Amino acid sequence: MIPAVMPTYNRADLAFERGEGVYLYGENGKRYLDFMAGIAVDALGHAHPHLVEVLTTQAQKLWHVSNIYRIPDQERLAERLVADSFADTVFFGNSGAEAVECGIKIIRKYHDATGNPGKYRIICATNSFHGRTLTTIFAAGQDKLVDGFGPPVPGFDHVPFGNLNELRAAITPETGGILIEPVQGEGGIVPASDEYLQGLRAVAEEFGLLLMYDEIQCGMGRTGKLFAYQWSGAAPDIMAVAKGIGGGFPVGACLANEKAAVGMVAGSHGSTYGGNPLAMAVANGVLDVMLEKGFLARVNKIAHVLHEALEKLVGEFPKIFVEVRGRGLMAGLRCAEGVVNADMVATLRTAGLLTAGAGANVVRFVPPLIITEEHVAEAAGIIEGVAASWPDKTKASG
Ligand SMILES: *Cc1c(COP(=O)(O)O)cnc(C)c1O
Repeated sequence: MIPAVMPTYNRADLAFERGEGVYLYGENGKRYLDFMAGIAVDALGHAHPHLVEVLTTQAQKLWHVSNIYRIPDQERLAERLVADSFADTVFFGNSGAEAVECGIKIIRKYHDATGNPGKYRIICATNSFHGRTLTTIFAAGQDKLVDGFGPPVPGFDHVPFGNLNELRAAITPETGGILIEPVQGEGGIVPASDEYLQGLRAVAEEFGLLLMYDEIQCGMGRTGKLFAYQWSGAAPDIMAVAKGIGGGFPVGACLANEKAAVGMVAGSHGSTYGGNPLAMAVANGVLDVMLEKGFLARVNKIAHVLHEALEKLVGEFPKIFVEVRGRGLMAGLRCAEGVVNADMVATLRTAGLLTAGAGANVVRFVPPLIITEEHVAEAAGIIEGVAASWPDKTKASG
């Protein structure tokens, strides 16, 4: 019999009762060190005092009105995002996929509004991830996402991530844009090089394309800059943001420069919930903390500590871990052949450390940005213990 909750997830048999900072407390009475943070969502950890304060204060005043009216906190959040990024304007939704969809619409509308309605195709990367709506699964183009959901949504071409020559070769007169994650998340924690992003910017200029980044996972301080592209200096025209921006409250945002958003006028896009007062109070609260002087510097410092700890584990257990990947607090530990990342994630969980799997047999670490050296040491200790007692299959099979 099908469960009442549609069985679309491979769930661990574990539920949590509450969270505090970097720890989650299970209904089983156990405490867990949370280094996956709801998959890069709980950027300030659990029950952050400032977020609890802004949420409860707002909850007593006003939750939802409608975008038929002005929403002052939405204007304030948009102005803050504009001030701290390439963008001139922001559309608010409730999720990452919606933010990507908005960006895809902006690309198509831009070319239509500037007299090139035929330039509707978007070049995306293989092994990418952009969400689970019908359009975004075909944008990502991975077989496992689109299986059974055809016919394909038209308009997406795929090239290997990081290869500028293949991308140039894929451009046709119908190409209107490029959509790339500056650090691939689900694909296995793969950062684009700064040179690659700079190359994409140049290609976009040369061929009159709009460059769009999906910073849903790598944005909002995760790599040690507010947005990951800022390491490269190669600004996009459009950018999707979600996950960390709400700190656990569902918020998505599509940022754009004025040129790209030329066709976005009254009636061209909308969302019932998007940018409502409750969501905007929380997202502004997240920014209050992230924009505090020294916050991102601390992220960079602790990220360095985490990467060093992971490198040490690779050195210690070369038969189990073979590579450290990532940028900032978006890190991956690739497991050796014969060590299945899902088994590693499950064993670490039993040992009290929460991580997530990612592509390419990677164990993913996307902890709250507020972790300290003690948390890193605790996590490394748990991983060390698990690795030291990992069954040696080569021995067992003789
Ligand atoms: C999580 C994620 C999405 C989808 O976000 P949802 O909120 O689940 O719709 C899209 N792109 C990237 C890079 C992501 O990490």
